[in-house]
Amino acid sequence: TSLLDKEQMQGLRGIREFLKVRTSYDVLPLSFRLIVLDNDLLIKKSLNILIQNGIVSAPLWDSRNSAFVGLLTSTDYINVIQYYCQFPDEIDQVDQFRLSSLRDIERAIGVEPLENVSVHPMRPLYEACRRMLRTRARRIPLVDIDDETGRETVVSVITQYRILKFIAVNNEKYTMMLKKPVREIGLGTYGDLATATMNDSVLDVIHLMVKYNISAVPIIDKENKVLNVFEAVDVIPCIKGGAYDELSSTVGDAVSRRADDFPGMYSCGEDDRLDSIFDTIRKSRVHRLIVVDDDQCLKGIISLSDILKYVLLFGEEDDTIQTEN
Ligand code: ADP
Repeated sequence: TSLLDKEQMQGLRGIREFLKVRTSYDVLPLSFRLIVLDNDLLIKKSLNILIQNGIVSAPLWDSRNSAFVGLLTSTDYINVIQYYCQFPDEIDQVDQFRLSSLRDIERAIGVEPLENVSVHPMRPLYEACRRMLRTRARRIPLVDIDDETGRETVVSVITQYRILKFIAVNNEKYTMMLKKPVREIGLGTYGDLATATMNDSVLDVIHLMVKYNISAVPIIDKENKVLNVFEAVDVIPCIKGGAYDELSSTVGDAVSRRADDFPGMYSCGEDDRLDSIFDTIRKSRVHRLIVVDDDQCLKGIISLSDILKYVLLFGEEDDTIQTEN
């Protein structure tokens, strides 16, 4: 193996050791707020609360049983939209659905319910990462047991993004060593890419995300140049106020209505290296990178899960992600 390979592996090992000696708790900022939603809330109202607070997910609390019952994410809203598509005559009923109906909606449209994973905040961060990769969860709640009541409490939620940011900020020494081009290490997806054009409807793009099980679709023009990217979280403002019929409007319209603080789209080239991707993550709110050539034409996509998977598992004997710890 070349010097470059050796250094790359040394960098990866350094990051893995770091993840083993830090806990999920270490990732949390000194002070933070956690918005928890009551499971009895109308789905329609939950949309407004997320939008008003500038968040895209929240833990759900069953106040009758005083128990944490799961995480609300954009996937849940996409399920509601699929339900609406399959049962268009039930729009009045859809309006009356509560968050507690989300599991029934999953059943009605025939999707596998997501595994309800959580981690203890004081367990090694490495464990949270492995669990994320195994279950494909993009965020997991940190659940602790309250000393006095003996009940589960949700301390916070950690995301792939926060973990990669934490690595980027605290491990420059090791991320600097990752000098192999992304294409050469097979980071990301380059073959069968799901794409859309500005004139496709929001609904078309949602169906693509469901079909490919992905969280973003690049929007390209006739020449394959990347114009924008439509994300699963963009669905939330689209159905604000229960406006499901507006899903037939174009993605072009939807992205033009984005909030002012939209973090923007990040791209890189096939010859870029993980060291510079970590620099971007250190400085910005990156949720994926679109790989383009010199003419801005689409080549591939690198998701946060692709990065996390490479950082944790590349070169490990058991890189199947089936097993834990
Ligand atoms: P994440 O789990 O980080 O949110 P995604 O769910 O979007 O990422 O991606 C899951 C996998 O699908 C990744 O390996 C990624 O490279 C790939 N992928 C992401 N977007 C697309 C797309 N538009 N077309 C094809 N594959 C994609």
